[in-house]
Amino acid sequence: MNNKDDKIAKILKKNILRHGALSLADYMHICLTHPKYGYYIKNEPIGVKGDFTTSPEISQMFGELIGLWIVQVWMDHQKPEKFSLVELGPGKGTLMADILRATRMITGFHNALELFLIEISPSLKNIQKKALKGFPVKWKTEINGLPNQPTIIIANEFFDALPISQFQRKSDKWMEVMVNLKNLSEPDSNEFCFQLMNPSKEILVNFENEVFEEGCMIEISKTMQNIIFHLSKHIQKNSGAALIIDYGKEGNVGNTLQAVRKHKYSNPLSSPGQQDLTSFVDFKAIRTHAEESGVIVSQLANQGDFLKNLGIEQRAKILSKGLSGNDLVLHQTALERLINKNLMGNLFKVLGLRGTKSPPLIGLQT
Ligand code: SAH
Repeated sequence: MNNKDDKIAKILKKNILRHGALSLADYMHICLTHPKYGYYIKNEPIGVKGDFTTSPEISQMFGELIGLWIVQVWMDHQKPEKFSLVELGPGKGTLMADILRATRMITGFHNALELFLIEISPSLKNIQKKALKGFPVKWKTEINGLPNQPTIIIANEFFDALPISQFQRKSDKWMEVMVNLKNLSEPDSNEFCFQLMNPSKEILVNFENEVFEEGCMIEISKTMQNIIFHLSKHIQKNSGAALIIDYGKEGNVGNTLQAVRKHKYSNPLSSPGQQDLTSFVDFKAIRTHAEESGVIVSQLANQGDFLKNLGIEQRAKILSKGLSGNDLVLHQTALERLINKNLMGNLFKVLGLRGTKSPPLIGLQT
């Protein structure tokens, strides 16, 4: 590791030497969003030259169909004259740019929308500014404080980027996965290791009555819980909906933490701050917290089915008419990547949330 790149490692080490081992959630929080050296703060993670690629970067069709979904929700809410369109973690701004392009012919829609992007990274915010040039955008770093008006919220590959805590069942009790220095007696060592310790916080109250096998791991994201709480309260109070798309599963059992660098898996404890750290989104936990806050939650759909329900195959056919040769092959490959059940089609899931006074959401079953 060269000097320039090990800033986060030094910060982590200082923290551990001063306060003891870090929870996995604190480790992830520092690695990903440290205000100066965090992974999302100083890198450009998305795209061929970055570390990973997302659906809107694969094909314009993704954003176009999400755009039509948003228009339908707006229409089903009797076309409010003012509403907030909010995106959580907009990355390079590609999804929002495609949404706005696909909806520009809808009478009254662009005039009605007030655009909010929730983004923690100044460098990605600059890229978003360029991608959305000409549109009045308001940036925020947190979801709270949105204006009280009908609100449509979208989030693609946002929730997988939030810190999680991990716990392991050992002799009838839960131990927390902590991050420690491998060799505390060697001050120059920047090597980290996982260590099981007594849980730092009372985080597990909801799981007391369930039976877990020895050695089993579970994951909990307090940050996700807080965001879902705010988001749900907001759409319940003001009417509207939220669309959450991400890779994940229903339930929190298993170790799903992964690190990705240059499109390859790597060790989550190596090169802290220089690689993406994510986990599978627990859609069951999202449902529980959203329902506790009073909103209606749709059935969980596979991305492939959702996009097909919205007409991606028809859209692909229309677009393919203008293409030939390599462009046509790329276009067909992109469609396959998004909907094929062995590619992103089943791994990625879609969940819809809506206020109790809001109508059912297209493309999803209630
Ligand atoms: N939705 C985009 C990008 C996904 S990457 C796409 O589909 O291409 C995750 C995004 O969430 C990045 O923009 C990242 O900077 C942002 N992000 C991560 N953690 C965040 C946090 N705690 N608060 C706000 N934004 C965050």
